[in-house]
Amino acid sequence: MRIVVTLAVTLLVGLGVLFYMEPTRPMPGEAYVELVNVTGDDEAPKCALDQRYSDEAPRGLRDDVLAAWNSLKGKAAAENVKMCLNDGKRSAWQQQAEFDSAVRRFGSADQASKYVLTPEASNHVKGIAVDIQPLSAASWVERSNGKHGWCRRYQNEPWHFEYDPSYVGGCPSMLPNALASR
Ligand SMILES: [Zn+2]
Repeated sequence: MRIVVTLAVTLLVGLGVLFYMEPTRPMPGEAYVELVNVTGDDEAPKCALDQRYSDEAPRGLRDDVLAAWNSLKGKAAAENVKMCLNDGKRSAWQQQAEFDSAVRRFGSADQASKYVLTPEASNHVKGIAVDIQPLSAASWVERSNGKHGWCRRYQNEPWHFEYDPSYVGGCPSMLPNALASR
């Protein structure tokens, strides 16, 4: 009898814990207003300016983009602005995993594409995009309006910048989100 009671209690407690731990997630198709900043390399050191973010080494950026990134950091530092590379180059595999995870989170490929593109479309995979944190540093870059070759591209991603030498003449108008760039 004691064993039966013990088993029953264990089962109930177990079920209770399972139920309690069930994570909340949006219903399929439900709009999800929280802006997600996809993080890159989990192994990267934390951003000293804000521990919620990483500070990756700029590995894998295209050569001219890497030079432009280093130059941007130097120009920012000269104005006492420090920045972290929360995400730079992503492998196609990494991008696909991010995309699949976003599809589960947002409920559809179209919704997910507003935040994460497929490997074929992503400028992170091409090695020409960076996610800059904290946002105070990102806004310094945005205010430079392309002077250093870097422009913010999406209204819903204040951290995401892309490099193009033609941006030095001024940034093109922003797109509402990444989906609009397909
Ligand atoms: Zn990005």
